[in-house]
Amino acid sequence: MTQYEPVIGLEIHGELLTNSKMFCSCSADYGSAPEPNVNICPTCTGLPGALPVANKKAIELAALVGLALNCSINKHNTFARKNYYYPDLPKGYQISQYELPIAEKGLLEVNDVDEKQLKVRVRRVHLEEDTAKLSHEKNNALVDFNRAGVPLLEIVSEPDMRTVEAALDYATKIRAILRYLGVNSGDMEKGVLRFEANISVRPIGSDEFRTRTEIKNLNSFRALVRASQYEIERQIKIYEDGGEVIQETLGWDDARSVTTSQRSKEDAHDYRYFPEPDLPPLQLTDSWIDTIRTQLPELPEAKTKRFITDFELKPSEAIFLTSDISLANYFEEVIKYAKSSAKIISTWIAGEFIRNVNELNVDVNTVPAKSLAQLVNMVTDKTISGNAGKVVLAELFKSGGDPAEIVKEKNLAQVSDESFIQEAITKILDDNPSEIEKYHAGKDTLLQWFVGQVARATKGKADPVITKELMLKGLEERRK
Ligand code: ADP
Ligand code: MG
Ligand code: ZN
Repeated sequence: MTQYEPVIGLEIHGELLTNSKMFCSCSADYGSAPEPNVNICPTCTGLPGALPVANKKAIELAALVGLALNCSINKHNTFARKNYYYPDLPKGYQISQYELPIAEKGLLEVNDVDEKQLKVRVRRVHLEEDTAKLSHEKNNALVDFNRAGVPLLEIVSEPDMRTVEAALDYATKIRAILRYLGVNSGDMEKGVLRFEANISVRPIGSDEFRTRTEIKNLNSFRALVRASQYEIERQIKIYEDGGEVIQETLGWDDARSVTTSQRSKEDAHDYRYFPEPDLPPLQLTDSWIDTIRTQLPELPEAKTKRFITDFELKPSEAIFLTSDISLANYFEEVIKYAKSSAKIISTWIAGEFIRNVNELNVDVNTVPAKSLAQLVNMVTDKTISGNAGKVVLAELFKSGGDPAEIVKEKNLAQVSDESFIQEAITKILDDNPSEIEKYHAGKDTLLQWFVGQVARATKGKADPVITKELMLKGLEERRK
């Protein structure tokens, strides 16, 4: 039986976080607009005679992304008209970049399966404008132009990926970089970042590029993975049945878990691209590009390396902490206030802290860095037990407040007073004669159970080291 491999290329669209739109001075912040069609003007609604002016900030941000992805910047680059008619596109064309994008020929290293590293070539990074938003209500189609003309960046990879895992890591890394650069929030549920997967399959060992399909508007990593897996299987089945894959644009129906045909795919010539006559070419100077380069922040890879060296973290810990800029900044903020080692802070953040963040679906800054540091300090200096620390953390997420106050209010302070602990131990031993018998008969693992009972009875307040010592003694004393 023929074994197949997928060939995957990704196109990623990300809106740029500028104040104004790409070609007019309307606000680009359509998410905060009080109602539809308020951030609009003759230019972004395509009225005759209105002229576009390119947004300087958007050009800077696009160049920044190009540099972060190791692209070369085209000092001379041009805008082009991509012609097609759709109700969300008032001009009847989209201003984009075609022959000369702002940046091209980049490289991004990603993790593939079996711990392999893969260098994915970035074909191009270009500027364009977002469309309006259509919605449907009963028999009406409604259009909101607040989003029309918002700066949009398109990042196109070469078809270099051979596994869905590599494609997922590529998409994950691009999102992280955009967030590091502060050019895009990465809020996929809001649609500000969208993936398109181009997929073909071929027999393993072949180097031909077969007909591909393109799955549009994937709005989550999960959708990217599931749609790609489905499409790979669908195409393999077509070849196995002796058929041919046809080039088309597909959608992903998440509820039904299938890709659906939207239209047969246009080729470039269908768009009748031609140079945009209303905008001059962009002429960028070396010194301008150098200035942009100086604005590049420390990127994920460099930050990972620094965390490993400076904080003596394991690579896996450093990779986790630097996977997101807010998390990385948060960690460094906690370190500033902490008396505990970076390792201990990292363990708390990667464990109990992130569990709460994900479960409650809140921002990492919900619990101030200083509060987390105080809490971990109290565990380290044994004011409270690790379990009590978890209780305090949950409270910090729920209602905020001062960690020391919470310890007082909830009476969580660890007690190393031996008579207090002994009292609890005596009661537990009195209550569990049959467990004692089993222990004496050789079931040593019960010691941990007894210690756990004390922690439970004292609500985690008993010092675990002292508890264990006294418990051992108590159990020995009762040996007949
Ligand atoms: P366009 O969409 O402008 O026609 P291309 O077809 O060259 O441009 O490429 C669009 C995307 O499709 C790129 O991300 C590219 O990597 C990918 N791609 C091109 N050919 C294939 C193929 N045979 N299989 C999978 N992906 C492909
Ligand atoms: Mg395309
Ligand atoms: Zn406008």
